[in-house]
Order: sequence, then C-alpha cells, then structure tokens
Amino acid sequence: MRITKQASGGRGEYELADDAPDGTKPADLLDLSMKVVVGKHVIDTQIHIPRDEDERQGKYRLRRIKRNGGYPQVSLQMASILLLPRPIRDEAKAGAGEPVFQNNSYLIKNISIQDVRSRDTTSFTVTIDLVEGNNNTIAADEIPVDKRMRTIEALWDSLDKLPASISELLRKHRAYVVSGKPMPNAATSLVEELQKEVARNCADYEVSYSDQTDPLPALQEMLRSVATDRPPAIEQIEPEAIELKKRVQEKWLYYAAHRGPASIRFRKAVMAAYEHTCVACGSRFPKTRITNQSGIDAAHILPWSEYDLDKVSNGLALCRLHHWAFDQRILQVTFRNGIYSIELSAPALAQLTEPKFSITVLKLVVGQIPLSRLPKSEKDRPDPRLLQRLVDEAV
Ligand SMILES: [Zn+2]
Repeated sequence: MRITKQASGGRGEYELADDAPDGTKPADLLDLSMKVVVGKHVIDTQIHIPRDEDERQGKYRLRRIKRNGGYPQVSLQMASILLLPRPIRDEAKAGAGEPVFQNNSYLIKNISIQDVRSRDTTSFTVTIDLVEGNNNTIAADEIPVDKRMRTIEALWDSLDKLPASISELLRKHRAYVVSGKPMPNAATSLVEELQKEVARNCADYEVSYSDQTDPLPALQEMLRSVATDRPPAIEQIEPEAIELKKRVQEKWLYYAAHRGPASIRFRKAVMAAYEHTCVACGSRFPKTRITNQSGIDAAHILPWSEYDLDKVSNGLALCRLHHWAFDQRILQVTFRNGIYSIELSAPALAQLTEPKFSITVLKLVVGQIPLSRLPKSEKDRPDPRLLQRLVDEAV
C-alpha cells in the first residue's frame, strides 16, 4: 500500500493506492482518520478518504477532515515530521539537479506503507516505510523513515550540545511529534527556520551546509564534532595512581581536541599565530589546493589546565609526528634564559637503549627553537609556567 501523488497533471492530490500485505484495501478505510507510525511515534494526521462518492470521483483521495483546521495536507505533514525541506505538489515546478531534497523544488511522489497496523471505528494506523522524492532530473531519492527518526531522536537527546537557537527549534519539533496531533502549519515553517540556523552556525563547527537543503546530515555532523564528556580533574587523582593518571591525561587530550566550536577557535588562533608551521621541525603544511587538510595540529601544552585551556600561550603548532612525540612525552619544550628549546625528555633518554625504539629522527629537532617559528606577539608564545608544569608532571 502507498500514499501516492495522482498522475493527473498540475496541482495534484494524494491518494491511497494498492492493497496492504494483510489484504486491507483502500476501500476498507473510508472516513477513518489516518494515523502514521514513524519510529516510536504515532501521529494522527486528521486526513481521511471521504466516503462521499461525488467528492471521491472513484479515487481514494486523501483529504483533510477539517479543511480549515490549521494543519496541512499529507506530504507537508510528512516532510515536517521528518524535518525535510518544503516539498511542492506541482510537478511542472519541480527543480533540477542534486540533491533532490531542497525547498520548493521536489515533490513527494510516494510514501510507502509497510502495513496497516490497526483499525477501529474512527481511525486506521499505518507504518510508514519510505518517502520517495522526485525532481525533474533525478528519478527518485528515498528516505528510509525508521532510520531517519532514530537520527532525529538522537538529536532530541543531545539538545544541550547544540547552539541554543537550534535546540529551541528541535524542542518545539519534538513537542509537535510526541503530541500525536496533526503537524501544524507552524511545523513546516519551523523546518525553514532550522535550515537558516544551521546555515548560520555550521561554520563554527567546521561543517558545510548548503542553504535550502536537508538540514539533518549537517546537524548530525555538528553533533559529532561536539564535546565528549569532561574527564575528572587531574588534581583529584592520587599521585601514586600513575596508570590511572596516564589514562585520565589521555582522556583530557582527547577532550581538549573535541570540544566543538571552542576547540575549533583554539586551533584557528594557534594556526594564525604560528602560521601553520611546526615549532619543532619548521615544516609548513597549510591547507592548499592540493592538500585537503592542514598537516599541522594545534597541540595543548596542558589540556587539564582549565583556566588556560583556550589561550594561544597554552598551545603549540606541531606536525603530526612531533605532536605525537610531544603528547607521549618523548619531546619536551623548555624555556631557559629567554630561549625556547626542544629537548628529549628524561624518560625518552632512558629508552635510548631499547632496541625496538628508534628516535634518530626525533633527535634531529633537539636544540634551540628559532624565534621565527614562534608567534610574533610575546603573549602568544608558550607560557613557561605551563611548560615547566608539564615537565614536572612527567617525572
Ligand atoms: Zn614537526
């Protein structure tokens, strides 16, 4: 069984077509309000097939029970439940190109129904399976409804991790869906507001989003780039619990690098101050036309020093190799008599006899750091107190 847009040209209407797997025919469902199951939710669309033959004209047309009830027709309700861009009903006006799902340029051709779950004296309930969208160049693009609802629910569960304007809109959307009532007209404009807010905020999360398109993939990416939970403060761990301390320090490094917009701002500031140059070896690997990504990282000197977390003076620009060696405490940065230097740490020196370990390449960078590799502004240069604390911690 499916909800399908009538083939007749122009501003088409939707009808119920084909029998359900259990043998239910559209003719068995006249005058009953259609409830749709999407994920865990049941929404009464207040849309039915009127029994009146004149109105039906031999088709099983889906009509709103109350024409002026303040809720839209079926394809708009489905789109707003699923946070899809605004569809149109006029085939001639469907746009061209990819992606299919863009505001006012695609139509929902079919909504496939898995089964008719139940029926009583006032309503019938159907499980929605796929929503198929079309435009003038692409035959069809499909949205699997169950999977999409799981993604939407994951967003609802993480509202505090998204910008306030976005979480406010998603909170409203959740209220509409869980109410079980028909999706109101306001829910359709809500998706447009959401698209605007995603466009406005996505750059802070280094997520790209093109205006008017499906906002869900961008929202998912934004969520992925946002903070993991903050580990316990390093100071709270007994000094003798060395193994635990190491694990917590590693968690802190991960946390410091994955705090969403805050860590992105930190990285940008460090990259600007060091001009994409590794402070240890002088390699300069910015993002260019031939490299998709910068090869230089913004490392934290002390990620667990909450007060200084986002200051450039708590950062170092390091290439991947030297970032690893710095985080593993093989290399250390020191400041003595006004001179910054790269040194091998005491534990690394102790490992020099370990046959499986070759630090020849790392030894090449030991020595004074040329001033040209450090930030021009003195306040942005590595804070000697933080460097010293890191060295002390390692012992
Ligand atoms: Zn390097």
